[in-house]
Amino acid sequence: MSEAIRHLEEAFEPAERHRAVVVASEPITEAGADAEVREIVLEVDRPDFPYEVGQCIGVLAPADPAFGKEHHYRLYSVADLPERSASGRPSIRIAARRCSYIDDYSGERYPGIASNYLCDRRPGDAIEITGPFGLAFDVPEDRDADLILIGSGTGIAPFRALVKHIYRNVSDWRGKIRLFHGARSGLEMLYRNDARDDFAQYCDRETFEAFQALSPRPSWADPIAWDLAIEERGEELWDLLGKPSTHVYVAGLEKMRDELDKVFARLAGSPDKWQRRKAELVAGGRWVELLY
Ligand SMILES: Cc1cc2nc3c(=O)[nH]c(=O)nc-3n(C[C@H](O)[C@H](O)[C@H](O)COP(=O)(O)OP(=O)(O)OC[C@H]3O[C@@H](n4cnc5c(N)ncnc54)[C@H](O)[C@@H]3O)c2cc1C
Repeated sequence: MSEAIRHLEEAFEPAERHRAVVVASEPITEAGADAEVREIVLEVDRPDFPYEVGQCIGVLAPADPAFGKEHHYRLYSVADLPERSASGRPSIRIAARRCSYIDDYSGERYPGIASNYLCDRRPGDAIEITGPFGLAFDVPEDRDADLILIGSGTGIAPFRALVKHIYRNVSDWRGKIRLFHGARSGLEMLYRNDARDDFAQYCDRETFEAFQALSPRPSWADPIAWDLAIEERGEELWDLLGKPSTHVYVAGLEKMRDELDKVFARLAGSPDKWQRRKAELVAGGRWVELLY
């Protein structure tokens, strides 16, 4: 996780905690996938929990007291629009990947604490959450603005909510949306598989197009081939990146930053040209990353 994001997690201190009950937990990766990602629906006990599209929540998993911490605290993007359950309580949908980490000293692999805690909860279990936190990818005021959305793995979750919000609630939206969705294999394509193809419902929208990027050799853990997906649309993307109203939103694992820089440097003609263009986008608040 990047220092910037560590800082973000520290910035969102778990001051106010809320009880939430798991009402559903289902795998959304296909059988046979190396990764397990579960869609978890939580019902928050606090009726006025004030959450909006594009926000995150914090989850407090119990920590081992031997490490001197009461909780292990991690953030999760909300993967849907704000909803209410049948009981009228706020309902939150998140997509959590079961993670592991390699211990720096022993070199052993251990289960990640928060993600395994979350993925092991079952309907009826109560957990503690915090937030919501406004790490939003905003809908631009300008309804003609174009959006380039690039998400890998669980990074697709905030874009699922954003695209749904735009096509459901922003009636005068005219900008193009180009969604690039990366995963190691087709079995790990969240919300774009046989069981759940959420983005298919927007395919008849003139403004919407979605592309997938996979790893050429998933079993060797080769990086996602962003170049194939992005360079295929290179001309259009470069035009969009030159327009003053285009916004680029990127979400997923931190290694995406370097992978994307390489591809965009090729589109730009050189790494320097790309870094200059990216710096302009960042300075204008039009390149926003949520990397972890
Ligand atoms: C703003 C923000 C939003 C996030 N949204 C989501 C989300 O919607 N869904 C989600 O599953 N995670 C999300 N994360 C990551 C999440 O907060 C945790 O880092 C993750 O669940 C691992 O926590 P852990 O305690 O199990 O393991 P940790 O010890 O924290 O991490 C174990 C290892 O897993 C890697 N890792 C962390 N997250 C992922 C991931 N999603 N996919 C693959 N590898 C990962 C870490 O780099 C580390 O190497 C988000 C993080 C941030 C900062």
